[in-house]
Amino acid sequence: MLKSLLIANRGEIACRIIRTARKMGIRTVAVYSDADTKALHVRQADEAVHIGPSPARESYLVGDKIIAAALETGAEAIHPGYGFLSENADFAQAVLDAGLIWVGPNPDSIRAMGLKDAAKERMIAAGVPVTPGYLGADQSPERLAAEADKVGYPVLIKAVAGGGGKGMRRVDDPADFADALLSCQREAASSFGNTDVLIEKYILSPRHIEVQVFGDRHGNVVHLFERDCSLQRRHQKVIEEAPAPGMDEATRASICDAAVKAAKAVDYVGAGTIEFIADTSEGLRADRIWFMEMNTRLQVEHPVTEEITGQDLVEWQLRVASGEVLPKRQEELKINGWAMEARLYAENPATGFLPSTGRLDHLMIPSDERIETGVEERDTISPFYDPMIAKIVSWGDTRETALIDLEKACRAVECEPVKTNAWFLARLLGHPEFRVGDVTTGFIAEHIDDLCEPPLPSGALLQYAADDLAFDASNMSAAFGSALFELTQTRFGFRLNAPPRRDVRLSVNGHVSAVEVGDHALWYDHTRTTVKDGPLTTYFEDGAAFVIGGDRAYGSAAGTAADGAILSPMPGRIIAVDVTEGETVTKGQKLVTLEAMKMEHSLVAPFDGTVETLAAVIGGQVSEGAVLAKITATA
Ligand code: ADP
Ligand code: ADP
Ligand code: MG
Repeated sequence: MLKSLLIANRGEIACRIIRTARKMGIRTVAVYSDADTKALHVRQADEAVHIGPSPARESYLVGDKIIAAALETGAEAIHPGYGFLSENADFAQAVLDAGLIWVGPNPDSIRAMGLKDAAKERMIAAGVPVTPGYLGADQSPERLAAEADKVGYPVLIKAVAGGGGKGMRRVDDPADFADALLSCQREAASSFGNTDVLIEKYILSPRHIEVQVFGDRHGNVVHLFERDCSLQRRHQKVIEEAPAPGMDEATRASICDAAVKAAKAVDYVGAGTIEFIADTSEGLRADRIWFMEMNTRLQVEHPVTEEITGQDLVEWQLRVASGEVLPKRQEELKINGWAMEARLYAENPATGFLPSTGRLDHLMIPSDERIETGVEERDTISPFYDPMIAKIVSWGDTRETALIDLEKACRAVECEPVKTNAWFLARLLGHPEFRVGDVTTGFIAEHIDDLCEPPLPSGALLQYAADDLAFDASNMSAAFGSALFELTQTRFGFRLNAPPRRDVRLSVNGHVSAVEVGDHALWYDHTRTTVKDGPLTTYFEDGAAFVIGGDRAYGSAAGTAADGAILSPMPGRIIAVDVTEGETVTKGQKLVTLEAMKMEHSLVAPFDGTVETLAAVIGGQVSEGAVLAKITATA
């Protein structure tokens, strides 16, 4: 067995690997960038090596620095986690050439599956059914457009080197093909450095079903059943579960066999995932499930498989890397119960899922469920990496119980001032269609308006907050006398010596609400967590945070929509400006496109009006909060 291991990653997956390594008595070495000097994975590892500046391409993506760190600390092996260098065959080869153990498949297997077109060709040869489409070497726009016509619309343009849901464009109308191709190639060039694409038939009523496979160096390959990851936003997984709802034994056997066949076709060693797409317009049928791609690494959602099989997949990886045979034979693996995972992100669903960076001044994730995280309260979500805060994983005897527990956990998440998607996750889990397991990958997009409608505090919460304010005001007057009392009366806009029931005006997340002050007995029933910041208090309810004060506590800073200033939500680069000064715009019209955190973000007009000033220029670097444009409302 290995004695020491360097983890070439950060965040929750680095912490996850450290946990198992420690359990197995393996010494751990972390690597970190400037932004991660104080990160949890650095604090948890036995040793840590600084590998460069914050941007990943200068640190976590620099293979030479990571290998040097391993040699310098005497680590025997390198675990790449997921993302970063995990599917980089050249890096895997360099690790082996340095005399180190690579916790992953042979570089040749990674290469075979690395590009989506080559992988599909390989699978066709192995007799695995693949999604219909065009894989050709001719990448001229004319040829691609002609092939799209042949495949039949709607089609999906996919970057062959794509991953993480990026580099993909659905096209419904041949007239839009050329634009979609350009935008897909632009994203592919900046994210993957490879502009080649393939064309696929866009599967209608699609479900994403994937099979966990595992191989060892002795020629054994097993599967650990399937996961359903159909709940996605912009091709990125949001909630995953195992097993897949509605999967019968015959269909399961068929896709799991296909997955093992696919893994054997590339002499697969270690943890891998075969992703399939299912056309469910007539239910889940074995002859409507096609190979989509293989991920030659541990998958983000591996915990749901661990929960239903009782296995530790990181332990399996480390055993296989040490040369051992697989810990279990196929017939020893069984599905037990149901597991579900939600990805808690530092992003705001109410503002188009803009990442929300900053210090986690207050963070509470319920510990009744399994939590995989790379941060703790007072850590910082930096703009440099994927803004995942945690994965919340539940297990139950049945899907229903796993689901109810996960929903409850998401509702109980408290985070401030960083915004999270917890309330959005809770809404998804509570949705009647998801409850019965009836969702396709288009589900979130179809319900996006309802799902993202900004949450409102309950009447009970407003009541509670109003009582809190009254309580504070009267305490202050008792402690400091009537001068301050006068002041607080004015500030909070109500009088304490008035009749027992009366309206108070509260400012809730910058909007004014009128509330009737009620039963002061509530004062003695303070069970909610609150975070106070001057005149404002943050209350948590159902996964959302409400910043509440007297109606004047906020002053006039009511946010961007009110005054028409379009602020850059984060540091980034302007890649498109679609309007000119003086132009008339309609609500929702795209004004400026910002590239930040490797994604494109459109900033739109908050209401109908005119572009009064335009500061954004193509190619310009902007900082968070920079004014990019100002819109004056149409009178
Ligand atoms: P998995 O297939 O393991 O569930 P995904 O398909 O969601 O993971 O993502 C594929 C890879 O892309 C992962 O290794 C993950 O680290 C990375 N990734 C996922 N989301 C993002 C993102 N928003 N930005 C950058 N990288 C991402
Ligand atoms: P990535 O490498 O980014 O994970 P995938 O090829 O796995 O790319 O596709 C990601 C997601 O995009 C899938 O989970 C599915 O929701 C959707 N998708 C992929 N191919 C198709 C298709 N042919 N038709 C419909 N949806 C698709
Ligand atoms: Mg995928």
